[in-house]
Amino acid sequence: MTPVIGARVAVPFGRQRLTAICVAQNPTDAHRTLKPIHAVLDAENAFGDELYDLASWLAEYYHHPLGEVLGTILPVAARREAELIVQYPETWRRTEKCSNLSRAPKQQALLDYFATEGGVLQAAQLRAAGFARTTIRAIAGKGLIAPTEQAPPHEQLAAELPVLNPEQCEVLKALLERLDGFAPSLLDGITGSGKTEIYLRLIERLRAQGQQVLVLVPEIALTPQTVARFQDRFGVAEVLHSNLSDTQRLQTWLKCKRGDIGILIGTRSAILTPFANLGLIVVDEEHDGSFKQTDGLRYSARDVAVKRAQNLNIPILLGSATPCLESLLNAQSGRYRHLRLTKRAGGAELPSFHLLDIRGHTLTDGLSVPLQRIISRHLNAGGQVLVFINRRGYAPSYLCPHCGWRATCPQCDMPMTLHKTPAALICHHCARRENPPSSCTACGQQAPIAVGIGTQRAAEGLLALFPDTPLYRIDRDTTRSARRMEEQLRAIRQGKPAVLVGTQMLAKGHHFPNVTLVAVLNADGGFCSADFRAPERTAQLIIQVAGRAGRAKRPGQVWIQTYQPENPLLVSLIEEGYESFATCELTSRRRSGLPPYRPMAMLRAESRDSALPIAFLSEIRTALLDEFEVLGPAPAPIQRIADRYRFQLLMLADNRRTLHHGLHRLQEKIASDKPLPASLRWSLDVDPYDTF
Ligand code: ADP
Ligand code: ZN
Ligand code: ZN
Repeated sequence: MTPVIGARVAVPFGRQRLTAICVAQNPTDAHRTLKPIHAVLDAENAFGDELYDLASWLAEYYHHPLGEVLGTILPVAARREAELIVQYPETWRRTEKCSNLSRAPKQQALLDYFATEGGVLQAAQLRAAGFARTTIRAIAGKGLIAPTEQAPPHEQLAAELPVLNPEQCEVLKALLERLDGFAPSLLDGITGSGKTEIYLRLIERLRAQGQQVLVLVPEIALTPQTVARFQDRFGVAEVLHSNLSDTQRLQTWLKCKRGDIGILIGTRSAILTPFANLGLIVVDEEHDGSFKQTDGLRYSARDVAVKRAQNLNIPILLGSATPCLESLLNAQSGRYRHLRLTKRAGGAELPSFHLLDIRGHTLTDGLSVPLQRIISRHLNAGGQVLVFINRRGYAPSYLCPHCGWRATCPQCDMPMTLHKTPAALICHHCARRENPPSSCTACGQQAPIAVGIGTQRAAEGLLALFPDTPLYRIDRDTTRSARRMEEQLRAIRQGKPAVLVGTQMLAKGHHFPNVTLVAVLNADGGFCSADFRAPERTAQLIIQVAGRAGRAKRPGQVWIQTYQPENPLLVSLIEEGYESFATCELTSRRRSGLPPYRPMAMLRAESRDSALPIAFLSEIRTALLDEFEVLGPAPAPIQRIADRYRFQLLMLADNRRTLHHGLHRLQEKIASDKPLPASLRWSLDVDPYDTF
C-alpha cells in the first residue's frame, strides 16, 4: 500500500525500526538507494492537509529541513506506532428501552439517576455517585444503557456581562463586520482598556457559528487567572501548557483536529495544532518575546499565526498595549486595521509617571532615600507597592575589594550571580553552581563583596525597611511551581498593604487592583544595550509594569530611578507615551535600514576552538557580500557558553525575495563546501529577536 503524503510510516533505520513521515510518493532515480518501508501507520495525512502545507511553508520561510519541521509539529506521543485515536473517558447513554426493575432496586436507582442527571454520563461520575461497576454492567446487559462517545462539553455563557463602553462597542462592531475572510487587525489598547473583553465577545460570536478559536498567550500569562476568565465565560476552554504529559498533549491535538475542542488557549507551540474548523486566531500581548522560538525551528508564533490566518482565509486579532514595531508599521501602512482603545475600562485612570534623578544619591539595596519615602507613603495610605527589577538573584557580581577579582563562570566567561538562601554563585547562562568562597580566590586577602542589585537583595532591603508589611517576591526562583505562584498571586489579590518585588514575571498581564505605586529601580541599562531592539523591549517592559498601577479606584503612580533623566528615549516614552516613542524608533530604524524596514537573518556558529567559527563565517561573508549587507563576523553577546565560542553574522536584505535567494545560496554553499569540522555547529535564524 502506498502511503499518502503526511502519513506516518514505519521504516528500517540501521538495525532499528523508526516512525517516519511520508513526504513524497514517487521516488525518482535519485532515491534509488531508499529501502522499502515496513508498514503504513495512517490511512490519512496525520497532520491534515492544511497544517502539512503550513509545515512546507515553515520549512521554506525559515530555511529549515522539512523533516525537522514535521518532527517539531508532531506530538512526541505520536512517534509510537500506535493508531492516532481520541480516547474518551468511558461514557454511557440512556437508550429508548424500558424494563421492569422492581426486583433490582439498585439498577432502578441507576436508571433514575440517568433520568435526573441527563442522558449521557461518564462512568467516573456514576461511581462517584455510589453506583457499583456491576450495577452499570447489569443494566448495560439489559440494553437500557449503551456505551457512547463523550458528548463534547456544553459551553454556556456567563449570565452577567459588563456593559461595553463606547470605545469597546466601536471596536467590536468593526471586528464583527469583517468575520469572513482574511482580515488582520491590531487591537492597540492601553493596559486595562478591556481588550480581553473584546476577545471574549468576538469568540462568543465565532462559537455561536460553530467555529473553533485559537488564543495564543505569552508563557508568563498562562496563569490560572487568565484561563479562568475564559472558562468562567464559556464553561470550557482547553489549555495547552508545558505541564501536560505527552499523552495529554496528543489527545488535545487529536481533539482539536476532530473539531471537538471549541476554544484552545496556549503558548507559542499551540499555533502548530491542527484544527477541523478554525474561525479566528487571537494573539494576546502580541509584542511578547516568548512567541519567538530560540532554538531548532526558530519560528515566530505571531508571524506564523498571520500566515495561517491568511491560508485559512479567516480573521486574526493581534492585541497589545505596546505593539511591536513590526505590527505598528503594518497598521500604519494599512496592511492591518488599526483599532484603538485609549481609556481604561470601568473608569480607572492611567497612572502618572515621574522620573527620579538618582545622580549623587546613595542607594541602599538599590533604593534611594526619596524612593523609600514614597514607598512608605503609599503603604501608609493602604496601597500595595510593586518594585520592579529585571534581575533575579542577590547580586549580579561578587568581587574582591582588595585586588578586583570577580567571580566568573569558567565555562562562559560571564560574571556569576550571587544567590542567598542557599548561598551559591550561579551562572545564569549555563546554570553552573559553585559555593561562594569566603576569602578571595586570587589574593586571599579579603572576603569578596556583593555588588549590584537583584530581586533577592531588593527584597531583603525592603523587608528591613518595612518589617511589618508582608513582602512577596516573584521571579523564576520563587515560582518554580505553578501552585506556589498562584498562592502568592492570590494573597496579593486580597489587597492588604504589601510590597511586591519581582522581575518581568510581575510585569505582564496581572490584574492587581490595589497596587498604587510601581517603582522601577533602574531603567538605564535597557536603553543603552547594543541590541537594536533593546529600546523597544525596555519601553514595552516599562509601560507593561506601569500598567499594573492604579487599575481600580485609586489612582496610581510610577516612579523610575535613573542616572540619565534627560535620556531622550526615556523622556519621550513617559511624556508622550508609547506610540510616540515607537514612531521615533521606527524613524531611526528606517534611517539605519533595520527591521521592520529591511528583513534580517542571523547565522551563528560555535565551537570549542574559537578560530573555527570565525573562519567559517568569514568565508560565508565573502561569498554573500553581493547578495546583501553582511555585518560581522562578530562575537555573540555571550561570547562563550558552556565552553563553546560563539560568533555571528547579521544579514540585511532590501526585500524578502532577496533575503530568501541569498539564504538559499548560503545553504548551497555550506552543503557543497568541504565537510565542516565536526566540532563546528551552525544555525540560521530568520527574523531574529535577540541579536546581541
Ligand atoms: P486588558 O486586556 O486591556 O488589559 P481587561 O479586559 O483585562 O483589559 O480589562 C481590565 C478590567 O476592566 C478587567 O477587570 C475587566 O473585567 C474590566 N472591564 C473590561 N471591560 C469593562 C467594561 N466595559 N465595564 C466595566 N469593566 C470592564
Ligand atoms: Zn582579591
Ligand atoms: Zn556558565
